Amino acid sequence: MSNANIQAPKGTKDILPEDQPYWRYLYRIIEKHALKAGFEKIDVPIFESTNLFKRGIGEATDIVEKEMYTFLDKSRNSLALRPEFTAGIVRAYIEHGMHTLPQPVKLFYFGPIFRYERPQAGRYRQSHQFGFEIFGDKHAIMDAQIITLLWSIHQKLKLKNISLQINSIGCRECREEFKKELVDYYIMQKDKLCSNCKRRIKKNPLRLLDCKEEECVELSHGAPQIIDHLCGDCNQHFQSVLEYLDEVEIPYELNPKLVRGLDYYNRTVFEIWGGKEGAQNALGGGGRYDGLGEILGGKKLSAIGYAGGVERIIETMKEQGIKIPNEKNTPVFLVQLGEQGKKYGLKLAEELRNKGIGVADSLGKDSLKAQMRLANKKNAKIAIIIGQREAAKNTVILRDMEQGIQNEVPLEKTVDKIKKALKK
Ligand code: AMP
Repeated sequence: MSNANIQAPKGTKDILPEDQPYWRYLYRIIEKHALKAGFEKIDVPIFESTNLFKRGIGEATDIVEKEMYTFLDKSRNSLALRPEFTAGIVRAYIEHGMHTLPQPVKLFYFGPIFRYERPQAGRYRQSHQFGFEIFGDKHAIMDAQIITLLWSIHQKLKLKNISLQINSIGCRECREEFKKELVDYYIMQKDKLCSNCKRRIKKNPLRLLDCKEEECVELSHGAPQIIDHLCGDCNQHFQSVLEYLDEVEIPYELNPKLVRGLDYYNRTVFEIWGGKEGAQNALGGGGRYDGLGEILGGKKLSAIGYAGGVERIIETMKEQGIKIPNEKNTPVFLVQLGEQGKKYGLKLAEELRNKGIGVADSLGKDSLKAQMRLANKKNAKIAIIIGQREAAKNTVILRDMEQGIQNEVPLEKTVDKIKKALKK
């Protein structure tokens, strides 16, 4: 075996302790908003049957064609690491008979996804998504409700320069008509397309509209727009969504080129763009997917969902200099001397923690100086100092680290005194 250092796989990232407060903060905000809006958390497996994603996401999508981590397990079942959550959640909805629950069923999630992509800034092979799904209600107000929820999350995070991009890609019927027209338009100018789009033109023509290659962007300007081809019902649905958004004063940009990558969408599609001014940095996206339930073998199921990229949001928050509330997990530092001090300290620290007071320590250390230095470094407000003498007398010394004043306190009064001092 080689002695070379093993590094994290390409496209993956350690989330180091210094970044964890951002992750905790974001998760807290998402969870709080979701629960308060009547969404329940769901966790689904990190790997699922490969067929679930092939059927659900669609064989002609980049995700399924190129980006899935698939493997055979020891029983030769083909499994895949989830490249997104929605297919797994719909599977769970069907498998657990959630159609028997009062509808709509509102769910949220948070966790890793895996895509074999070319790693670059903001694009990883393991990344994390949070998201929301509403099942069992086709009303346009559901679309507006999910957008309202994620809009308020982005507001709460104080993200600047974000925009809501929105479009409707109609239902299967109106989209088929449109696709024909789109193919006719692009076939005439096939030579000007990038090689990817030349290949996609028959299989997944909608994707040509949001190709980022310069020549394709140029061509997309003259392409027919789906909005002109919506059937009466789809048009009505979309107009209602926009009216509801006007009602809650959420600004949006109508984006006729927004089609989203996955096969399962219909009607409303939307993305949140944000970050660097002018840059098309998608923080997340979603849409309605009324057909997916049936595709996965269930009954007809109205559904709308959204998935946001955790790394993208945190990176954007950092770029924008957004500060998160300071976490003071361990305002108290325990300093001990001698074997008796260690034993006494080990017990006392645990008691304090059980009473809700965060205590840091370095019980393995012996030197008073080294421990005090550490207490300073960790920004402790109070140091508890326990030597042999205090241990024998059942007292502790409490030191106010900011003012440098210290007092000896009987053990039974320690909790009260600390609580009072921390309130100041
Ligand atoms: P999608 O449904 O593919 O548009 O993904 C929704 C969001 O997840 C995107 O807007 C990104 O913020 C995030 N995302 C998707 N794939 C990746 C990735 N490979 N690396 C980082 N973030 C990603």
